[in-house]
Amino acid sequence: MPTSLRLHRRSAAVATSVALAVSFLLPTSAALASPIGDLEDTQASPSSDPTPSPGDAGHERKSKVASQEKDFAAYSLDPASPLVLVNEHHPLRPRDYTPKKLVAVNGSGARMVPQAATALEKLIAAARRDGHGLIVESAYRSYDHQVGLFRRYTNMYGEDYASKISARPGTSEHQLGLSADIGVASGQCSLRACLAELPAGKWTAAHAAEFGFIIRYPKDQQETTGYNFEPWHLRYVGTTAARKMRAQDVATFEEYSDQLVQAREAHREGTARKQAEAKRQAAVQDALREAAAEREARLAEETRWMPEWARSAAAR
Ligand SMILES: [Zn+2]
Repeated sequence: MPTSLRLHRRSAAVATSVALAVSFLLPTSAALASPIGDLEDTQASPSSDPTPSPGDAGHERKSKVASQEKDFAAYSLDPASPLVLVNEHHPLRPRDYTPKKLVAVNGSGARMVPQAATALEKLIAAARRDGHGLIVESAYRSYDHQVGLFRRYTNMYGEDYASKISARPGTSEHQLGLSADIGVASGQCSLRACLAELPAGKWTAAHAAEFGFIIRYPKDQQETTGYNFEPWHLRYVGTTAARKMRAQDVATFEEYSDQLVQAREAHREGTARKQAEAKRQAAVQDALREAAAEREARLAEETRWMPEWARSAAAR
């Protein structure tokens, strides 16, 4: 079944409205920003290459927010922004995007953008203090890597099934350097939903937001996210967004993004209304000034023949 058919109509509509709104609202420069810069061995393989079996599907692709200024500023299609939305309807721009800088997450071969790597290190350290040994199974994956991965799964299972367990190249969050798959050192429930039942999985779900992470593909949200439950897939969105999503019970990043777009739109509408009103007021003032000047000129013309004392009396 084509991927698109698996999506609920509502979520497809949401996605479409988001895409439309975004395309209208965002400045072209942000939308088309090409972040390819001083690349750091972008072709290097990330830590591991989980080979999924039909049982643990899901891995890659199983697939009201306060209107604060900083949200408007941060939200964008720019893949370098922690608030960028990437899913099958929102591929990366450009599709072969590579983060400008990637650093190893301490204690693992996995790489992420610096901000996300630091946050994940803090999360792992906090988990350790609470008695949970978390490991990073995989984080950044390059476009080329994803091409190979998807091709391999397609060869193994056919494209239909491959698309359920792996993102098509250019639509994987792992390519952002903002996502990581975590697990426990024993390998128990690796890339499986049962990770959520382990103490370490529960701890992660409870504390991820404090470090700016969300469980990107929550349980029972496949219709919106396009992915099955992936308690192991963490996405860095920053602490403001992560905490807000938790406080406001926003289940998916798709919904959060939608709210950001709506808030941005409302803000812009408000600004436009204010500007229009100010313009109208200015026009009224201009008209009044013009009328007064005209009246004065007419009076001067009509009283030109009068002596000075009579003219000033008439002007009163
Ligand atoms: Zn993942």
